[in-house]
Amino acid sequence: MFDQLSDKFDAVFKKLRGQGRLTEAHVTEALREVRLVLLEADVNFKVVKDFVAAVQQRAVGSDVLKSLTPAQQVIKIVRDELGRLMGEGEDNALDLAASPPVAIMLCGLQGAGKTTSCGKLALRLRKDKRQPLLVPADVYRPAAIEQLKTLGRQLDIPVFDSAADADPVDICRQAQDYARNHGFDTLILDTAGRLHIDDTLMDELVRIRMALSPREILFVADAMTGQDVVNVVEQFDARLDLSGVILTKLDGDARGGAALSVRAVTGKPIKFVGLGEKMDALEVFHADRMAQRILG
Ligand code: GDP
Repeated sequence: MFDQLSDKFDAVFKKLRGQGRLTEAHVTEALREVRLVLLEADVNFKVVKDFVAAVQQRAVGSDVLKSLTPAQQVIKIVRDELGRLMGEGEDNALDLAASPPVAIMLCGLQGAGKTTSCGKLALRLRKDKRQPLLVPADVYRPAAIEQLKTLGRQLDIPVFDSAADADPVDICRQAQDYARNHGFDTLILDTAGRLHIDDTLMDELVRIRMALSPREILFVADAMTGQDVVNVVEQFDARLDLSGVILTKLDGDARGGAALSVRAVTGKPIKFVGLGEKMDALEVFHADRMAQRILG
């Protein structure tokens, strides 16, 4: 994960450390390289611009260059700013403090990892002593319902018996009643995706939102799609007022752009990251650890 990004940062920092006396020009040159590294990693250009400006201001405007370890200080500033960019210090925990059953709605484009993430989330919640009910609400993709049922069987977590010809909003309502009557405290709604955003899908998601008032509406974003994902998150957010993002497939050779841009552009926190196809491959997102991982 982020190997390329790490290697490139490493090269820039090595050069910086290798300078005798560090001058403002050295820092400016290093930041020019940092800028290129981030753009190549597919980070949103405005995010890059703000990031470099913030580092430049802190590194040059203060006494950093006069300190005993100027290069180290500059690197630390880059690390700090990277963490800040990704929302370091913010509370990313799920907010499930409502009278049960609480609904968590997952949405996103087809293939992003919604169904997989529903299973992963259910497993995590059960470990936290909650009683989750998985709800397949994608009636368009053949086998989507069956896919969630299979996951439920593997995990031994109940899956609501959605009818493939029912309206997704009705399914969610019925699942809520079922949960209430059968002692489930958390509904995990697996909604339909599309290859591209379209109004019909959005309208349906908005109707589900209005019917169930989910406590969490999480956008499932495929990190492999780079910064394109940021535009899609923005559009979902405009209609659904997302509470956060699950960034999947970070185990692949994602260039890092999505992880670094989503929070800054949308203002929505990354709450979890998917790190594999297995059901335990879901981690709570920590911006500081991610920055550490990227900068080695
Ligand atoms: P959906 O259409 O959004 O429901 O997507 P799926 O959950 O069906 O996932 C699409 C594909 O991505 C499947 O092959 C999953 O196994 C895979 N996938 C999902 N999350 C991850 C992840 O974090 N890492 C990897 N490597 N694969 C994932």
